[in-house]
Amino acid sequence: MFYNSKNWIEKTIYKNEDFDLFNGYSTYETLRTYNKNIFALRFHYERLKKSAMFLGLEVPEYEILKNTLISGIKNFNCKNDVRIKILINKYTSKEKTFYAFIEPIREIDDLRESGVVLTISRERKPKNPVIPYYVKTTLNGYSMYLRQKYNAYYDSIVLNEFGYVTEGTKSNIFIVTAGVITTPPISAGILPGVTRKIVLELIESFNMDFEERNIEVWELLSADEIFLTHTSVGIIPVRRIVPNFTFNAPGISTETLINYWQDFIIANNEYWE
Ligand code: PLP
Repeated sequence: MFYNSKNWIEKTIYKNEDFDLFNGYSTYETLRTYNKNIFALRFHYERLKKSAMFLGLEVPEYEILKNTLISGIKNFNCKNDVRIKILINKYTSKEKTFYAFIEPIREIDDLRESGVVLTISRERKPKNPVIPYYVKTTLNGYSMYLRQKYNAYYDSIVLNEFGYVTEGTKSNIFIVTAGVITTPPISAGILPGVTRKIVLELIESFNMDFEERNIEVWELLSADEIFLTHTSVGIIPVRRIVPNFTFNAPGISTETLINYWQDFIIANNEYWE
């Protein structure tokens, strides 16, 4: 039985397994297009496969996923770039299918210029999670909840059990102090972001000073610059962490990376296969 929450009309669902559609046992990916082409699909696919493998879900072959998305985007016929969310759950696994949600992307060039405001979540990341942080799923509960709780801010920074900075609820974080760019390691308990990975490649290929290590809160709050990375926007500077810690937005390193990013993503075929 299923009760429609709007008017409490009783509806009968014929198959008990249909609950698989709704029970949240799923993995997902968020992708986007630049100039109508899907960006870094291969990297997203590899992460989707790893998440699905952990959860015992099936993913389509890469070529099938790619061609389905390309024709879906064409049919959507949007004049702007789009964001694509892929969802795989027990139901789709059984039916050998997947969901793709396509929507126009709202470009936020103004925020890229002015920077965004963050808060630090009061809640810490669950210690010893049943589902490891590399698995992209809403099953672990915490990130969707925190996104909702702190939705007055662009994102909230979550600390781990030791009080180290991990990431936002939808983004990875980098700080810059005295010209050195630092980001928490995967072992701090973060999602290995596709954008993070590409930014690390950029930093390396342009020989910028860089460290991957645990970051304490005082280091975060006393940084010269902070930026976030996530698929929908690429790199986004942070101008303030509430209540009143302010940062150069964009600072020199962040701006350099944003410029590199823009040149690099267009030029590098590896991301467009
Ligand atoms: N960290 C978390 C918890 C996320 O949910 C996301 C993206 O949704 C990211 C980081 C950024 O990952 P990506 O660059 O692959 O979008």
